[in-house]
Amino acid sequence: MIVANRKSIPELVGMIERHSRVLLLGCGTCVTVCLAGGEREVAILGSALRIALRLRGRAEVVIDECTIERQCESAFIDLLAPRIADYDAICSFGCGAGVQMLAEYFPTMPVYPGLNTQFIGVLQSQGVWTEKCSGCGNCRLGEYAGICPLTRCAKRLLNGPCGGSHDGRCEVGKDRDCAWQLIYDRCQALGTLDRLMDAIAAPQDWSTGGDASPRCVVREDQLIEGRKSGTHD
Ligand code: SF4
Ligand code: SF4
Repeated sequence: MIVANRKSIPELVGMIERHSRVLLLGCGTCVTVCLAGGEREVAILGSALRIALRLRGRAEVVIDECTIERQCESAFIDLLAPRIADYDAICSFGCGAGVQMLAEYFPTMPVYPGLNTQFIGVLQSQGVWTEKCSGCGNCRLGEYAGICPLTRCAKRLLNGPCGGSHDGRCEVGKDRDCAWQLIYDRCQALGTLDRLMDAIAAPQDWSTGGDASPRCVVREDQLIEGRKSGTHD
């Protein structure tokens, strides 16, 4: 899932206080699961922002809350569209993709980001989310027993470990596991250590990664007639 966390109340107030009617818009998918921007979080934030605005002498600002299933899909924004004329700004609690989708959908409406989008990750333990994938566009987890060195090794080593690995910890910080220790241990458990030790991994094709942004995935089998020209916008 996309993991995000909330901006501070003063930062949010700074963005919205010049408006008179603001819709706080939650998203019911990733950011609900990571407890950053779902229905519950937006309701709590709505109360906190009303109090903060009152303390700044801006009690007249109307703050409403609403959550849609996914902000990154226009079919769900369609359901919201009839309500939007009631507001002069939206503060989105979706990820960065959701914020931009709203800005594109409502070209004359200011849209502000209520969250700081962090990474693609998982819930590691109660209250702790960790990054697992950098979206390199050329997944090599099959070579590394399902542990991503591009994301989880501080030096992104494809042929590790470096000389700083100590007691299973990374030299960059004792609070983080050495990804290469994890890869080694898992290969040992799977009985595939020989493959890891014998082969030198090929260089990464970085042309498919984030440096090639903005990237686009086109599925010919999903295109509607008239758009099967091999081009996209
Ligand atoms: S190899 Fe690439 S796609 Fe696979 S988990 Fe790592 S960053 Fe993500
Ligand atoms: S100690 Fe391990 S995780 Fe840290 S940089 Fe070296 S190989 Fe990568």
